[in-house]
Amino acid sequence: MNCFTCGSSNMADAITIYVEKLQNGILIIKNVPCKKCVQCGEEFFSMTIMKEIEKLSRMAENIISEVMIIDYNKAA
Ligand SMILES: [Zn+2]
Repeated sequence: MNCFTCGSSNMADAITIYVEKLQNGILIIKNVPCKKCVQCGEEFFSMTIMKEIEKLSRMAENIISEVMIIDYNKAA
């Protein structure tokens, strides 16, 4: 997998925070595994993680009020 931003193939495993603005508030997912470009620092999610995030945000959309913080390690 190459970096979409700079094209570097130098990607490292990392942990990041995912933030998304939903209709009723802001969803924050902590401890999300990602790939981080060593060259430019851009972070990317794998397809599996993307699907999991999508699932969590759909779930959160129904129960969220203002701000919701989910720990990826516990929720996924
Ligand atoms: Zn890059």
